[in-house]
Amino acid sequence: MSNKTELIGLSKEELTAALTALGEKSFRAKQLWQWLYYFGAADFEQMTNLSKVLRQKLAENFTITRPKIVTEQISSDKTHKWLLEFADGQRVEMVYIPEEDRGAVCISTQVGCAVGCRFCHTGSQKLTRNLTAAEIVSQFMVARDSYGEWPSPTNETRYLSNIVVMGMGEPLHNMENVIKALNILTDGDGIAISRRRVTMSTSGIAPRIVEALQRTGVRLAVSLHAPNNKLRSQIMPINNVYSIDEVLSACQKYQSGDGSRYITFEYLLLDGINDSPECAHELIALMKKYGLRASFNLIPFNPWPGCVFQPSPNSRVKAFARELENAGFAAPVRVARGQDILAACGQLKSKKDIEDNKSEA
Ligand code: SF4
Repeated sequence: MSNKTELIGLSKEELTAALTALGEKSFRAKQLWQWLYYFGAADFEQMTNLSKVLRQKLAENFTITRPKIVTEQISSDKTHKWLLEFADGQRVEMVYIPEEDRGAVCISTQVGCAVGCRFCHTGSQKLTRNLTAAEIVSQFMVARDSYGEWPSPTNETRYLSNIVVMGMGEPLHNMENVIKALNILTDGDGIAISRRRVTMSTSGIAPRIVEALQRTGVRLAVSLHAPNNKLRSQIMPINNVYSIDEVLSACQKYQSGDGSRYITFEYLLLDGINDSPECAHELIALMKKYGLRASFNLIPFNPWPGCVFQPSPNSRVKAFARELENAGFAAPVRVARGQDILAACGQLKSKKDIEDNKSEA
């Protein structure tokens, strides 16, 4: 095994310390950071403003690693899905969801997930391990490699404009690595994705919400999916650990004192389970009780092989949205993307069985 230090995923301070330990001046860390994250260099030989001797010294001591692309699929609506493999052979999926002149990259934070939401394909795969900060950051770097978005374009011209931490895993079960990765991805001297364009989605790990958001400055999305504890516990067992009241109290704390902090609540509509007008009314009452400034993201369910739920019919989805809108909440219905390649919300998985998902679809 190599005893070289991997550079991707080191904080600026750690990078500076690694270089000074080699006898280099600290300004070299600034140059290296720019090469790694602004120019996207994957090889020391590309770093042409460093002397040949220094480039060689760096190559002897450090590595710059991207995960291996195992498969790539592009759906009929241009949604792009990668199956990525890390050095130990573990795999995750990442998805790019393009809009007309921009798009979001959905990144993963764990191999598998321990939360076990019953509607989620990833949740049917047990947690194997957390991803490191390097593995989280390098997913986005792979997407940038694919679309040739190096050096970092300005905000106005980039296609990979947003990041959603909504792929495989519960980010707040891997909080330190996720915080470190998000701070690298949003650093203005490198990849420089605006913090306002990064959304971290949690199933509701209540005690960590405020801290994670304060330390990253990104936006918060919460997977709610039900308006009361009885129903939510049935479809999201994590609700038995952190109840709706605990989650919404944390959201309230996060919003207190800062009017700009809007929260998106994700709500997956499951046929006959959580899609009645009564559920919508209960949801509205909840928002009012906690005084939350929020919008809803209504998600039509994307079935996957072996799942027990069915999607709500369109008419019920629209009626649900209308109830929320009449109460003053934005409640757009998310257009399902990448369904033909199992890249839609809740469909990601990393085991060998999805490599050949054409036969499943
Ligand atoms: S929805 Fe998210 S938190 Fe729930 S099982 Fe799937 S990956 Fe885990």
